[in-house]
Amino acid sequence: MKTPNSKDTNSDEPARSTNFIKYIIEEDLKAGKNDGKVRTRFPPEPNGYLHIGHAKSICLNFGLAAEYNGLCNLRYDDTDPSKESIEYVASIKEDVRWLGFDWQDREYYASNYFEQLFEYAVQLIKAGDAYVDSLSAEEIRQYRGTLTRPGKNSPYRERSIGENLDLFERMRAGEYEEGEHVLRAKIDMASPNMLMRDPTLYRIKKVPHYRTGGMWIVYPMYDFTHCLSDSIEGITHSICTLEFEINRELYDWVLDQLGVYHPQQIEFARLNLSHTVLSKRKLIRLVEEGHVKSWDDPRMPTISGLRRRGYTPKSVRNFCDRIGVAKADSMVDMALLEYCIREDLNKITPRVMGVLRPLKVIIDNYPENEVEELDAINNPEDASMGTRKVPFSRELYIEQDDFMEDPPRKFFRLAPGREVRLRYAYFITCVDVVKDPKTGKIIELHCTYDPETRGGDAPDGRKVKGTLHWVSAAHAASAEVRLYEHFFVKENPNEVEEGKDFTDYINPNSLEILSNCMLEPSLSEAIPGSRYQFERLGYFCVDLKDSKNGSLVFNRTVTLRDTWAKILKAQQQKK
Ligand code: ATP
Ligand code: MG
Repeated sequence: MKTPNSKDTNSDEPARSTNFIKYIIEEDLKAGKNDGKVRTRFPPEPNGYLHIGHAKSICLNFGLAAEYNGLCNLRYDDTDPSKESIEYVASIKEDVRWLGFDWQDREYYASNYFEQLFEYAVQLIKAGDAYVDSLSAEEIRQYRGTLTRPGKNSPYRERSIGENLDLFERMRAGEYEEGEHVLRAKIDMASPNMLMRDPTLYRIKKVPHYRTGGMWIVYPMYDFTHCLSDSIEGITHSICTLEFEINRELYDWVLDQLGVYHPQQIEFARLNLSHTVLSKRKLIRLVEEGHVKSWDDPRMPTISGLRRRGYTPKSVRNFCDRIGVAKADSMVDMALLEYCIREDLNKITPRVMGVLRPLKVIIDNYPENEVEELDAINNPEDASMGTRKVPFSRELYIEQDDFMEDPPRKFFRLAPGREVRLRYAYFITCVDVVKDPKTGKIIELHCTYDPETRGGDAPDGRKVKGTLHWVSAAHAASAEVRLYEHFFVKENPNEVEEGKDFTDYINPNSLEILSNCMLEPSLSEAIPGSRYQFERLGYFCVDLKDSKNGSLVFNRTVTLRDTWAKILKAQQQKK
């Protein structure tokens, strides 16, 4: 398969050089393993919204299935009723679909397997491989030992099979309170792998489940559920993140003990992204403590947040392809994600003019009440996107910071006595500056224009150094524009200094709301979700939730500055 990055890097190497899992699958296919089948799954727990790290896992699992003519299931790993909800299930579906993947009719739930899992547990008890323990949670912790000290056996470890079966059935029937008993695997309390020291398989939880309601009093633990769900579904390659490497021994033990079909667990490095957090636990806190407005706040690294910010599914997929799949943890710079969205939007978005911080300009020698319709190019990258008309008149807005009364040497924009080009329009020269007599603030500029320069060039060949964007005041559509910066000031907000919390690194300027922006009239009917490049300012998207006809709201998806190119250059110089 040709990956999007194969053009600029490693173009002669097979794509698997950036994805070691492809190599494993290809070897398995060569060896005729799994009858040549590839079956993967994306297994979210419905206890939060998906983030860009999940996108990596989605692209990987669905991508591998597509590439090797296999299938990928969507499976909800819903074994903890206290944190899960139908709202999260719905959001996960929406996000996976938005990314462009289709699980067809393979929408599965671990909770659908509860009966079967219970029977598997009974089977383990009957084989002498599991027992009901009646130690308290605290005692179980104490008995477990430490990394350097072996654990010790629970006094309940040698209960008879009959007694275990009876107790387990009665746990299910609701005869005991939470914590009174648990079902544990009987493995080895001295194992160097702490997870193998008789891990808990079932616990009593008197909490209704969002799907099974009050049907269950006992719920299976993740490690017991996950491998068996994979087995039930005939998963061939069970791909998970590196922190589960230590769980693999238990994954294999459960399946081997039960003698059921045995998928292969493969671990890869999770995505870490600079200037953000990718952990549902932390993201939930940002929402619940009001640091952001919602899960889909455009500052969130959630898929719904990225969508609202203006990211395209393609840009997220390209990003996931570019970062590759490795065995070692690393931190990806946010600049790469921004590079990917810029690359896509550059090709597909129409260019428009909008002024974020308006400064009035009056063209003294331009006839009052006259309006000209000037031709503007919609996308210089794509001639088929055509041109549009932009009205020009005597009163305009330009950007406040495109004017300086007393400019430094390298400022090539407008200043008293200076001539600049107005994009697609005329050369103008600033002749006067009007200020508020009280505050000294500049209120408006008076300029003259040269009628010979219509379209942006002077017949006498004289040059100007600056070209400004502008909007005709009488025709402007006003809008609110939301500008964003990194949500965290620290590159890795997960590295928390003593006595601090990751929320201490939140950037107080992560959101700036400009409520009096002036946009060219072609934008007055812009529909939610539509994307534009505002010339010189960046890519913007009409907000999906807050924008209404007559009160437009735009989000800046990303600026035009490519910081990724700089990072790459610096990296290459280091080599
Ligand atoms: P979090 O760490 O955000 O709480 P999680 O692992 O608890 O995430 P799950 O719903 O269990 O969330 O994740 C579903 C799948 O997505 C799992 O296979 C998990 O390994 C994968 N995944 C989660 N976070 C990342 C990440 N940052 N990069 C790659 N894959 C991830
Ligand atoms: Mg998890």
